[in-house]
Amino acid sequence: MYRKPHLDLLCCFLYSYHMTFNFYNTLGREKQVFKPLREGKVSFYGCGPTVYNYAHIGNLRAYVLHDILVRSLRRAGYDVNHVMNITDVGHLSDDADDGDDKMVKSASERGKTVLEIADFYTKAFFNDTDRMNITRPNVVCKATEHIGEMIALIERIEKNGFTYSSGGNLYFDISKFPSYGELALLQLDELKAGARIEQDENKRNAFDFVLWFTKSKFENQALVWDSPWGRGYPGWHIECSAMSMKYLGENFDIHAGGIDHIPIHHTNEIAQSEAATGKKPWVSYWLHNEFLVINKSKVSKSKGNFLTLQALIDEGHDPLDYRYFLLGGHYRSQIQFSMESLKGAGNARKSLIDKIKSKFSQADIAEAGRLEIGTGIRSAEYTSYIEGFDKAIEDDLNTPRALAELWGLLKDAPASPEALAAVYDMDRVLGLKLEEAVTKSADGVNEKFAREIEELIAKRAEAKKAKDFAAADNIRQTLKDRGIILEDNPAGTTWKLG
Ligand code: AMP
Ligand code: ZN
Repeated sequence: MYRKPHLDLLCCFLYSYHMTFNFYNTLGREKQVFKPLREGKVSFYGCGPTVYNYAHIGNLRAYVLHDILVRSLRRAGYDVNHVMNITDVGHLSDDADDGDDKMVKSASERGKTVLEIADFYTKAFFNDTDRMNITRPNVVCKATEHIGEMIALIERIEKNGFTYSSGGNLYFDISKFPSYGELALLQLDELKAGARIEQDENKRNAFDFVLWFTKSKFENQALVWDSPWGRGYPGWHIECSAMSMKYLGENFDIHAGGIDHIPIHHTNEIAQSEAATGKKPWVSYWLHNEFLVINKSKVSKSKGNFLTLQALIDEGHDPLDYRYFLLGGHYRSQIQFSMESLKGAGNARKSLIDKIKSKFSQADIAEAGRLEIGTGIRSAEYTSYIEGFDKAIEDDLNTPRALAELWGLLKDAPASPEALAAVYDMDRVLGLKLEEAVTKSADGVNEKFAREIEELIAKRAEAKKAKDFAAADNIRQTLKDRGIILEDNPAGTTWKLG
């Protein structure tokens, strides 16, 4: 899609003064006005996948949130640097240092090396996210390629007095970090009682966590590195602290992940990062998506309700049907998944595309493709919908309300190239590939024929006005013979390929 660059800049400029985002910050549990650390720039880190298996559809919900966030901020004119990690080492089956190493277990079950497994599932992950039109991050960083950064960060934490060695591992001592658990609203007595899990006897406090493993129950760990604490491998949490700070600086704007990450992973990331730098808050805004559930049970790799995007495709769904399905719920509400509701979303997406195709003429479509989207061209008939859409997105990324505004525009605003450009503008956030869907159907109809069709439609309208219904029907038939179907609706006559 060609867009004139200088006007794009203008549109960014205009939008950055129009939109004020309010994000629900888990840190503080309230909606807060978004103000980045550096004017016009947003630094964002979203926790990426552990690549030991395919992503399930619950995981993909998390990446749709990241995508909506990034798209909304970019549309508003921000220069967003989006960083995502790939976990290929150190993530145990329990986030709190318990259980097996997910990568090692998967590799041994499949008779492959850890790196082969990581490579295979990383590709599969991006294949899924691409199919769902999820924008790729600016930086994708693998844990195994950042061991040096992790060691350097652990050294800083150690130097500041927050660590101890026990049973061959290096631990983070939460009793040295008074604000531990702030994000998750963990209570001190809860921390002391340490009822979280069966306690690792090496730990001084139940909530202490491993920064570096050397000798432990995972003697069979395939990937090990030399470190000041012996040959071993990093704990899971340190990778996100080390890589986010490498690419975004010691303090950055937004961090996101699923709500399961609040009490352990993100809590530990904050503790170790702030212990290393002494600069608080490490991250200004924490956004967490709720779960996707099936029959009240969280979709997860271990719960036997593991559904992949491919499984939905195999059932005849388009990946964008699933995207549409997710946009129909607010990211902070649980969504109940079922094949029936996915089917409903698929039908709604199809009606959306049909509605656009029937509402707008080929001339509108051709003209809208040439128009600059988001330039602030405003027409009274659809301004309220674009404004409503912006308000919905500003209000903690309320996609269900944003979709309703899109539908409102399609139902009520008169057709014009500008109104269609407004639809495309909304789709810069929604990512439903609406322009592609609309223009694809016009393939095979060249501009000359499109003009001829429009002229015949006008002649037919005149004939109808003069009550010459035979002539009007004649025109309809002539076009039908050439593969064009006319549809009369209150706003006028539209056409589509038959
Ligand atoms: P993982 O690969 O297990 O680290 O998870 C990747 C992302 O998916 C994380 O942000 C998780 O919080 C998120 N996640 C896991 N299960 C679900 C679920 N059922 N619904 C929504 N998000 C989930
Ligand atoms: Zn993380």
